[in-house]
Amino acid sequence: MGIASFWKDILFPARCARCRRIIAEGAICEKCYLGIEPYNFLRCGKCRARLPAIMEGLPKSGCHSAWPFILGAATSYKDESAQSLIKSLKFEGIRDAAQPLAELIFQFANTLPPDIFADCIIVPVPLHPARLRERGYNQSELIASLLGGRMNLPVREHILIRTKLTKPQSELRSHEERETNVEDCFATKNSEEISGRKIILLDDVITSGHTLYQAARALKAGGAGKIIALTVAMA
Ligand SMILES: [Zn+2]
Ligand SMILES: [Zn+2]
Repeated sequence: MGIASFWKDILFPARCARCRRIIAEGAICEKCYLGIEPYNFLRCGKCRARLPAIMEGLPKSGCHSAWPFILGAATSYKDESAQSLIKSLKFEGIRDAAQPLAELIFQFANTLPPDIFADCIIVPVPLHPARLRERGYNQSELIASLLGGRMNLPVREHILIRTKLTKPQSELRSHEERETNVEDCFATKNSEEISGRKIILLDDVITSGHTLYQAARALKAGGAGKIIALTVAMA
């Protein structure tokens, strides 16, 4: 251990995002992590109704089948451990939180038939370059890259871009404000990589769903095949 790392560990020891206990490494203690209960089914992207389980391929969405994505949320945003991890990664600069978050999505994906994700590419929801400079990293991209390693799927972070600097959705209260805030804020490039591909669209959390809707719509306009939006949590 170097001197710098020694002092860093003494002055700023790693703490569990949820219970604040000092931990040897990472962003959450084992007890808090194991307390998170993952879901084990996919949902309609629009109304979030549970989709029927089938053994291969994707379920044919019974309701809202024209919606551009179906949803796989790993757990509830009401889960305090998951919520603490998401906030640490997004607002406190704790990059180590990406690892347990990617693991949660991996655990969730493992409860579904593996064919669902065969041949997918993973596309993280991008940040606007100005927001990226402010935060220093894109939290969804960190999770996507770890998840890609776990699921053995390629991550393509450059095919979806954010063309408008929007206000954070969390700062907006009304449904209408959130809807218009992100309208047409995405575009695609390198369409030969999108055309006909099945895509995992990855974000940390789905709240109103407007951001994922716009991102999925842009990918569909770029020729994407089926889109499964995977998120750590659903609010
Ligand atoms: Zn803990
Ligand atoms: Zn529905």
